[in-house]
Amino acid sequence: MEAQVGNRIVLLGPPGAGKGTQAKLMQEQTGMSHISTGDLLRAAIASGSPIGQEAHAFMERGELVPDALVINMIEDRLARAGDDPSFIFDGFPRTVAQADALEHMLAARQIPLDHVMNIAVPRDDVVRRLSGRRTCARCGTMFHVDFDPSRRPGVCDRCEGELTQRDDDREETIRARLEVYDKATKPLAAFYRSRGLLRDIDGTGTAAQVLERMRAQLNGRH
Ligand code: AMP
Repeated sequence: MEAQVGNRIVLLGPPGAGKGTQAKLMQEQTGMSHISTGDLLRAAIASGSPIGQEAHAFMERGELVPDALVINMIEDRLARAGDDPSFIFDGFPRTVAQADALEHMLAARQIPLDHVMNIAVPRDDVVRRLSGRRTCARCGTMFHVDFDPSRRPGVCDRCEGELTQRDDDREETIRARLEVYDKATKPLAAFYRSRGLLRDIDGTGTAAQVLERMRAQLNGRH
């Protein structure tokens, strides 16, 4: 990406909007840190930590993990960062309470939030994207059975690891996650719009097209 405009970016949008894909691309191109609370929670579950044990049942049902747990996780992550850290937040905040907490955490460190990218994708596309999504269990590369298939079914092109489906990417859970998004997370658009931070991004098309739209916003060309 071109000269970085701002150092703290939140990616907002429903599950399946492409937040993780975009955050990974931005991290590769800018060196900013990608912070995904979903990834942190899945790692906590895999390691069997107390946080993972508490989070597991909520995630399996497609519900949000309690705010306090997620906020503490982000506090820890920020405490380990330098004085002027660059972050792409993916999947955090997801409630107004989390957005309030983030605002306070960043204000205390005098590091403002620069942009909130609100990635919009039609509901039907979201369901199709999520139900076909496959992730490499070893390196985390993402594929899609129809839109971005691996060369050999079930095998990662990059490292030959096994491709797996996330437990919460099954149809019933997808529906629950979308309801939670509408109720708890959608109001964040108004929260950030009122602060002048919200940038609306069309999330349809290829990952490269969406990244280009984001880049245009970040560089003020829109
Ligand atoms: P994601 O990988 O962002 O789709 O998140 C997967 C699941 O992790 C969500 O459905 C929630 O159960 C949980 N989760 C991730 N981030 C948060 C958050 N900021 N607040 C509450 N729960 C979260």
